[in-house]
Amino acid sequence: MSELHKFIFDGLPVRGQLVRLTDAWQEILRRRAANTQTGAYAPPVAELLGEMMAASVLMQGNIKFDGALVMQIFGDGPVKVAVAETQSDLRMRATATVVGNLDAGARLPEMVNVRGKGRCAITLDPSDRDDGRQPYQGVVPLQDFDGHKLQSVAEMIEHYMRQSEQLDTTIVLAADEQVACGLLIQRLPVQGVANLSQSSVVREDAEGEQGDEVEDDYARIALLARSLKREELLELDTDTILRRLFWEESLLRFPPLAGAQGPRFACSCSRERVGVMLRGLGRDEVDEILAEQGRVEVGCDFCGQQERFDSVDVASLFLPVQDLPPANPAIQ
Ligand SMILES: [Zn+2]
Repeated sequence: MSELHKFIFDGLPVRGQLVRLTDAWQEILRRRAANTQTGAYAPPVAELLGEMMAASVLMQGNIKFDGALVMQIFGDGPVKVAVAETQSDLRMRATATVVGNLDAGARLPEMVNVRGKGRCAITLDPSDRDDGRQPYQGVVPLQDFDGHKLQSVAEMIEHYMRQSEQLDTTIVLAADEQVACGLLIQRLPVQGVANLSQSSVVREDAEGEQGDEVEDDYARIALLARSLKREELLELDTDTILRRLFWEESLLRFPPLAGAQGPRFACSCSRERVGVMLRGLGRDEVDEILAEQGRVEVGCDFCGQQERFDSVDVASLFLPVQDLPPANPAIQ
């Protein structure tokens, strides 16, 4: 079962999350493999997308926000677009567009940042957007401040967090064709002036020693988190990972989010939305497709659902509102 665990380090300004996607991640891969037009993802793409999916759940779990967190990579290599989306109730979906072939050992730069033009966008799309609220979007290039290409999704997220939120964040990610996992450790913002002045007093009294110690809690825990190996993250259960890494720390764990409350695959596409999209294309364009192919077929990239519109469906799509037959009160 896919699960999201949250915890805090007792008395320290540090919190963490661990996500383990199993059935929900396998469902995404299964649907892709069943798509006769694309076929299954190549292993490096599955790894990339799985790490993005895990990171997207962790970032959604990290904020108080009602809506979708959409992580997108726009690549200049064989992977043109990769998208991982998580709703605030942890419904999640992902897709990638791949053109051409990939080396079996391709890493982030070879997949999406060949010419240094790749970028990552993270969008917070509020569910009450009808109120006129605009989505928030942050974009970062796929290289660090020194111009070095970022080597992994984890580096990309840490870079993004440094640029946007200014909260120290350490993230470890791993994915294969069975599981997609991630561990996130974050320094909590120091709240309130009293807190600040108190710690500065402590620092003065101890001639910097105690103050530094407070500062170092996050660094120590982040270092422990970084010692987690890819294989351990993929293969070990949550209890074992947390015990191995943080056995000397005092951890307060919240009830895990799993099952109906946990991360799970769901797609928000619908025939109505495809209809709206076709109307947006315009009658001429849609008629042209109809003339060429006898019907209009639109597939959802996320779930593989195919919507078919024949000439009668298309005609009713473009029917002016006043021409719709009136509802019959006798039937209703
Ligand atoms: Zn769909």
